[in-house]
Amino acid sequence: MNATANTHEIVVLGAGYTGMLAAVRLARRTRKLDVRITLVNPSDRFTERLRMHQIAAGQELADHRIPDLLAGSGVVFHRAAAVAIDADARVVTLDDAAEIPYDTLIYALGSTTDTSLVPGADHHAWTLDAPRQARRFSHRLAEITAAAGAVTVVGGGLTGIEAVTEIAESHPGLTVTLISAQEPGHMMGDKARAHLNRALDRLGIVREVGVRVAKVLPDAVRLSTGELIASDLTLWTAGMKVSPLAARAGIAVDERGLILTDPTLRSVSHPEILAIGDAAAVRMPFGVLHGTCQSGMPTAAYAADSLTRRLRGKTVKPFRFGYIHQPVSLGRKDAVIQFTKADDTPRRWYLKGRAAVAYKETVSSSPVPTFTMSKHMTMRVQFTNGGRSTRAIA
Ligand SMILES: Cc1cc2nc3c(=O)[nH]c(=O)nc-3n(C[C@H](O)[C@H](O)[C@H](O)COP(=O)(O)OP(=O)(O)OC[C@H]3O[C@@H](n4cnc5c(N)ncnc54)[C@H](O)[C@@H]3O)c2cc1C
Repeated sequence: MNATANTHEIVVLGAGYTGMLAAVRLARRTRKLDVRITLVNPSDRFTERLRMHQIAAGQELADHRIPDLLAGSGVVFHRAAAVAIDADARVVTLDDAAEIPYDTLIYALGSTTDTSLVPGADHHAWTLDAPRQARRFSHRLAEITAAAGAVTVVGGGLTGIEAVTEIAESHPGLTVTLISAQEPGHMMGDKARAHLNRALDRLGIVREVGVRVAKVLPDAVRLSTGELIASDLTLWTAGMKVSPLAARAGIAVDERGLILTDPTLRSVSHPEILAIGDAAAVRMPFGVLHGTCQSGMPTAAYAADSLTRRLRGKTVKPFRFGYIHQPVSLGRKDAVIQFTKADDTPRRWYLKGRAAVAYKETVSSSPVPTFTMSKHMTMRVQFTNGGRSTRAIA
């Protein structure tokens, strides 16, 4: 595209699930407008975070190159990390010293695991934040399995459950322990949770429930009760943190650093910034959305659609979203899907076994084809309980 002085510059920070979708969908929707879309990401590989526990357990995943995913969309890819935002001058500074001005910024930097709260966790525990790290974890796992060692997963949320079951299923003979302050699957209904517990039993996973980790040591985890759990390899999945970039730029954030948004996902302090995915504090009538792909993808689709409407001088409706499910893999051969009300509380229905495995695989594999198809058509992104997240379907 030949940019003119009137070209509307859109910069998308982060090419994860939400940044990718926002960029390609926006490109499709604005193809008759004078805009330039630049997508910024430190790696040229798309990270399938939904599958990081599979890498950690030793599986090889498909390699998705971001330039290939963007091919033909018109989106300009800039491989770099954003290091500063001048929100008054509307300029992003990158770690390759480039400075990119914007008229609209889409902030999609996601989140990472917070290992700062417990002594020793940042030094001795591993996370599922990056594919390279997950791959190194899988190599250590193989060594420890050969020595009949012990692995501990900290955090009984959905990520911790997916990781611990994947590891135990693929590495029989290993002592695998799950440490959780709350009952694993506490957010599920009784029947789905009972299925989850049966799977944990079947895989021989030791549970330390209702306790907190006080310290992570190189070869053990100390509980708040003082008990020491031997652990050759500790995987941390509890708690999340976000990039400090927004707060440093003076953009209004909540106590966790997530960008505070208005009902149309614009920053409350800087309306030319749209915040989406894990990095955004998006308030619904039932509370602030928690970081999931399920809610993140609709925020991305909405951001693309609402920005297009605004560029055309049209009004926009508020963003609405409601959860529909908690899909959880339990290794490769089992899964449990708890269907939910809009506020993520459990309904009576759930799926387990093979049907749940197929369902979960459909969920995990849908984003990449969605990016590709979004280059050619405007498609509905995901079902939601809380009303349509997208305005129109072509
Ligand atoms: C193991 C695991 C399993 C999960 N399973 C599910 C599930 O089943 N269902 C579900 O709904 N959710 C699940 N989630 C949560 C889901 O992955 C996140 O909610 C989702 O990735 C959020 O998308 P995002 O675009 O906001 O962030 P991300 O997908 O994390 O993308 C953020 C992007 O920003 C980039 N970035 C970071 N810093 C910078 C910078 N300074 N400059 C430029 N770019 C930067 C990153 O490299 C990354 O590419 C799971 C998470 C994990 C870890």
